[in-house]
Amino acid sequence: MNDQSEGKLRSDIVRFARSMFERGLTPGSSGNISVRLANGYLATPTNACLGFLDPTRLAQLDGHGAHVGGDAPTKEMPLHLVFYEGRPSAQAVVHLHSTYATLLSCLADVDSGDAIPPITPYIVMRVGRVPVLHPYRRPGSADIGALIRPAACAHAAVLLANHGPVVSGTSLEGAVFAAEEVEETAKLVFLARGREVRLLNKDNVAELNAAFNLR
Ligand code: ZN
Repeated sequence: MNDQSEGKLRSDIVRFARSMFERGLTPGSSGNISVRLANGYLATPTNACLGFLDPTRLAQLDGHGAHVGGDAPTKEMPLHLVFYEGRPSAQAVVHLHSTYATLLSCLADVDSGDAIPPITPYIVMRVGRVPVLHPYRRPGSADIGALIRPAACAHAAVLLANHGPVVSGTSLEGAVFAAEEVEETAKLVFLARGREVRLLNKDNVAELNAAFNLR
């Protein structure tokens, strides 16, 4: 990757992060973003507010995830690395504590195999089926990678129990838009609770998968 494209990625991370912060998708110092480079990764720094990032101070990591430049990376970097390892197509990962997706990760009666059912086509098109990963682990715990690894191979996005969504994409823009779709669909699913909802059926989902070459 040349300097120009890395510079563009740095400014894009700052731009998307500020946009999500300003719309309340990631309050305080919560949330983190990373992108894959040819020889490693860029990531948002630990304890950074996504509304006020400096493109020159983003953390740089080598291909093994070791910190090699910039500020120290987010403590949640293991969440990101396990997606890059499990999904060769993943070019970016976004982790938020966005309200409705996090709420679904806390509810005891949510289907942990399919936490955000296909109430509209867009969750199918952006991320597919989203599981909740139990048991709860504290942020930064040593075994969180092992907990997530099987799901990261099989799913573009997951909800960490009592914590929030981790969403991968084949581009930075794709990962951000997918994280926003996860949040918006989680909101619809929650608001529709207790009502008779017509979900997309298996044929509808199969049609989307075929039309958009999703599987
Ligand atoms: Zn978190």
